[in-house]
Amino acid sequence: MPKTKPLIIIAGPCSIESEKQFLTIAKAVKAAGATHIRGGAFKPRTEPTAFQGHGHDVLHLLDKANQLTKLPVVTEILDTEDIEQVAQHTDILQIGTRNMHNTALLKKIAQRTPQKTILLKRGFAATKKELLGAIGYLHHHGHKGQIIVCERGIRTFADGEYSRFTLDVNFIAACKKDPKFHYPIIVDPSHPAGKAELVESLAYAGIAAGADGIIIEVSMSPFIEVAKSDKDQQITPATLKRIIQNANKIHKIANKK
Ligand code: PEP
Ligand code: MN
Repeated sequence: MPKTKPLIIIAGPCSIESEKQFLTIAKAVKAAGATHIRGGAFKPRTEPTAFQGHGHDVLHLLDKANQLTKLPVVTEILDTEDIEQVAQHTDILQIGTRNMHNTALLKKIAQRTPQKTILLKRGFAATKKELLGAIGYLHHHGHKGQIIVCERGIRTFADGEYSRFTLDVNFIAACKKDPKFHYPIIVDPSHPAGKAELVESLAYAGIAAGADGIIIEVSMSPFIEVAKSDKDQQITPATLKRIIQNANKIHKIANKK
């Protein structure tokens, strides 16, 4: 019987806040079974006065986390001016939900870092056609590296009431069933959940729908109590460990023909 491909598990804090915080969490998520480390340096926040990330000052910590854990790292790029510099410090460039439609950014990333693996998050109001259009921009402008797609929830009338966004598991299933869709698609259960207690269920739902992996926000005491962004949705390394174990079982069942 052909073996099921192992899940991609990208885990770490929403934002890189300090060396101690990031490296402690990086070590803990590796021990829990993560395959990649995440951490935001540049944060796309709704309010201009909210914490915007420590930016260039913490890019070197991505290298440190990589050296410490030997795991590839993932961070978000916001500005075309930073492409080369950020790409030097990360294995995967994340294009966030708010930038899926930013064709200038897509074009410049494709032209300036054509071999880089890209994690492209679906816009929170984007159709499948629009997502494919964004991928099209990357290819058209010379991108040759791998592209990983991420479903991270869409805006619906439920916004804020019991969830931050609605996780569109249907989208994951539809992409996986589309013979012309050749990209790995992973699920982000953290941003639609908005609350730690919902994250585990959403992770399983995404994997059951056929997702090839998970990107998930993890923090731990004492950093979780004072997190500067998305504090309420950070799960602990212990929860991550259980999610990985169960997600692997669900993944096997989901991939049985
Ligand atoms: C993130 O992953 O930190 C993030 C900001 O995600 P999104 O673009 O999906 O909101
Ligand atoms: Mn976040």
